[in-house]
Amino acid sequence: MTEDQPTQDVLPVLVIGAGPVGLTAALALRSHGLPVTLLEAEPEDRVRPGSRALFVHRESLRLLGRISPGLDETLVSHGVVWPTRRTVYRGREVFARTYPARAAGAGTPGAAPPFTSLRQVETERHLLAACHRAGVRFRWGAPVRDVRSSAEGVEVHAGEGVWHGQYVIGADGARSTVRRSQDITMRGDRSVAFHVVVDIQEDEDDPMPLERVFTYEHPGLDGRSVMRVPFAGGFQLDVQCKDDDTPEDWADEEAVRRWVPRVVPAKYADRVLWVSKYHFLHLVAERFADHHRRVLLVGEASHLFPPFGARGMNSGIADSVAAAESVAKALAAPDDRVRAIDEFAVLRREAALYNSDAARTALDHLRPKRRITRLRQAAGAALSPVVPSCGEWLERAPYGPRAGAATNTSGRY
Ligand SMILES: Cc1cc2nc3c(=O)[nH]c(=O)nc-3n(C[C@H](O)[C@H](O)[C@H](O)COP(=O)(O)OP(=O)(O)OC[C@H]3O[C@@H](n4cnc5c(N)ncnc54)[C@H](O)[C@@H]3O)c2cc1C
Repeated sequence: MTEDQPTQDVLPVLVIGAGPVGLTAALALRSHGLPVTLLEAEPEDRVRPGSRALFVHRESLRLLGRISPGLDETLVSHGVVWPTRRTVYRGREVFARTYPARAAGAGTPGAAPPFTSLRQVETERHLLAACHRAGVRFRWGAPVRDVRSSAEGVEVHAGEGVWHGQYVIGADGARSTVRRSQDITMRGDRSVAFHVVVDIQEDEDDPMPLERVFTYEHPGLDGRSVMRVPFAGGFQLDVQCKDDDTPEDWADEEAVRRWVPRVVPAKYADRVLWVSKYHFLHLVAERFADHHRRVLLVGEASHLFPPFGARGMNSGIADSVAAAESVAKALAAPDDRVRAIDEFAVLRREAALYNSDAARTALDHLRPKRRITRLRQAAGAALSPVVPSCGEWLERAPYGPRAGAATNTSGRY
């Protein structure tokens, strides 16, 4: 392990935060041959809870394989690809598609699967190992208190010391100190009602089918919609609660054990690993770089999206790759550095706004405000046996417009 100390030397770049996005930024900078120091508030042996971001898109895999050859294959070999997608409306199947093994990527050497599904802690473990191999220098247990930026560079006040750098990539998550130190605010909305996410350990002797199932208005949950998503070793249930539901009735562990048997076989009530709740957020930072173009914001430090659509971590990976590229350009051509940083800031903010709109569209479908939307859904379900495109629409709509755009690093999407 390489543990770094504060120094009077001016480092080319510091990364703040060792979540999946910060680790990706560090790897991407190393792929440009830059020395990297990463400061993380928590200790190295911390245990991060829950499955959280399960779904790693093909485009994220491609980016990770580019900055750290073989990392894409490692993630694929530790994850699962479900070959079947199903959509159910009030207990009746309206869409089902099973992809052949090759398209799903299963067991096809060299073929990139469309995604892989594994717990975020696992993804982070592999990213961290790749960072160590690539020579990233870490300072654990160093919470950043302040970042001061000027035209000449940055001062990072962390733990007991002060670090000096030319650039900072802030990947310190939703409550980002880096963002606040630059007076950059988040703009957008948050839903009133909440979702409950439950991780359940699979019964390897008698597992559930490997399929992602979205159920509109589940009869066993008094009409609440629920999604089941597999990951390596288990699955996640995501229940959309009603506006007047209380966390005590839905998100409390005892309450969860009561409702789980209404959705999956009763044995899974004793296999609950983690329970969490979240609100549907679509928040985007007003700027992705500070006025001096020294501080770049990536991942949840710059945008917050709901898990539906898998835009959070995937778009953060793309942010980091783009940020590292801009920092490398700025260091190589200081006269042109403002343009290089602006390239990142403009492109990734556009991507975030696209994702934010996509999340809003998904929410309008998941939680229709207008009666007409519910009627369209009911009509689509009724017509789906004879008009397959209606079933397809019901299948796609909860996730919003194509989530793949979340990961685009160049040009428009
Ligand atoms: C229930 C749930 C399900 C989700 N599902 C998906 C999904 O399917 N797909 C998807 O793409 N995304 C999903 N997400 C979102 C995903 O978890 C986040 O997008 C992802 O964790 C963001 O990564 P990050 O590195 O930006 O931030 P974080 O993971 O929050 O990492 C930030 C890091 O910075 C550190 N830090 C914080 N403050 C400081 C400081 N002052 N100084 C130094 N270090 C600091 C923290 O300790 C942490 O290590 C889900 C989230 C939730 C809650």
